[in-house]
Amino acid sequence: MRPDLDKKLVEKYPAIFRDRYGNPKNTAMCWGFEHGDGWYHILDILCAMLYKDYNNAKREYERLRRREGTKDYTGTIVDSIRVERARLKMKEEYEKIPVAVQVKEKYGTLRFYVDRSDHAADDLIHFAELMSEVTCEECGNPGRLREGSWIRTLCDQHALEQGYIIDEDNHDVTNT
Ligand SMILES: [Zn+2]
Repeated sequence: MRPDLDKKLVEKYPAIFRDRYGNPKNTAMCWGFEHGDGWYHILDILCAMLYKDYNNAKREYERLRRREGTKDYTGTIVDSIRVERARLKMKEEYEKIPVAVQVKEKYGTLRFYVDRSDHAADDLIHFAELMSEVTCEECGNPGRLREGSWIRTLCDQHALEQGYIIDEDNHDVTNT
């Protein structure tokens, strides 16, 4: 992926991509995003979803911190214990964010490997990988898997440009 798009994801989701510049002995993430630019938005949405619980906890903590010492809508004082509890919850959610160990293309689709995960995160990752099966890896337009010496997911235009032959029924594509 283009270096500017790579940088954008790393800066936006530092918890997920904390190993982006890590040691090759410990992580494959040091090689960056090993796929085309067309999947950028899939990754961006995936990461936003993986950040969701943390972002909600962070908003709640910031809200309570601003209101510390004042009464909430039930008339109860927002005390420091409650603020601290919200801070710990935020920290806990941050630690639950999966850390990417490798992001690449394989057999024409996206693979997003993480070091730890739960059912919800696994489902999101699976959804993103399935989206890559219908999204051109080059440009992000609707695409599909192209059979050939190299299996790739491409839109018609990029398939033609890269030598895949589309038959008149618009399927069974090969490249030479
Ligand atoms: Zn395309």
